[in-house]
Amino acid sequence: MSLNENIEIIRERIHNAAIKANRNSKDIKLLAVTKTRSIETIEEALSNNIEFIGENKVQEAEDKIPHLKEKFKEFHFIGHLQSNKINKLMKLRPDLIHSIDKYSTAEKLNNYLKQHSMIQDILIEVNTSAEDSKFGITPDKTLSFIKSINKLENIRIKGLMTVGIFTSNEKLIRDCFIKLRELFNKIVATEIPNVEMKFLSMGMTNDFEIAIEEGANIIRIGTAIFGARNY
Ligand SMILES: *Cc1c(COP(=O)(O)O)cnc(C)c1O
Repeated sequence: MSLNENIEIIRERIHNAAIKANRNSKDIKLLAVTKTRSIETIEEALSNNIEFIGENKVQEAEDKIPHLKEKFKEFHFIGHLQSNKINKLMKLRPDLIHSIDKYSTAEKLNNYLKQHSMIQDILIEVNTSAEDSKFGITPDKTLSFIKSINKLENIRIKGLMTVGIFTSNEKLIRDCFIKLRELFNKIVATEIPNVEMKFLSMGMTNDFEIAIEEGANIIRIGTAIFGARNY
């Protein structure tokens, strides 16, 4: 199947999942996860109506993002951010960082932003599956974490992100997404100044339809667009 056909199929599936959930698919951003893909492949996706691209490694993003000739609307950073990579990442001007889960990283990011008179939108990564292998803050600590990060004045919290549990058990996957949505709603109701809860980033190739049913408005898709990854 061609890349263009894969993208059309994904859009159709997003549309169908949205209808099933009484939602409008226009409200759901498709983030094409371009990790391990070549510049040529990314450009082909961009010329087939992909507008949002996501990378999970700073070095790899640095090797590709500035060299893309095709235009894109937004570049998102979705991987674990090490504080010694902040400078490099910020030079790429990410539109959204999905994966803040440590105060010390947020503080260093804020220092960089202040020095450069910049503002950065971020999401808080939550570990909704309680798997040790996962990054993210635990759900019970998320609210207090947001309140502390909120004091860092050049960072804007825009929502939450999670990676669902890795299993074929649909109920366990759905539970992760329900947990994130409920947490999101609780934070909205808390009305923390300067926190604008806008994005729920959840759902990947194997579980994005469930995520859409549970309220995702950014889904992060790699394999279903580009095929299996070769590392
Ligand atoms: C790789 C990755 C994805 C995409 O995964 P697929 O299963 O290939 O769709 C989504 N989110 C994050 C954080 C990733 O690292």
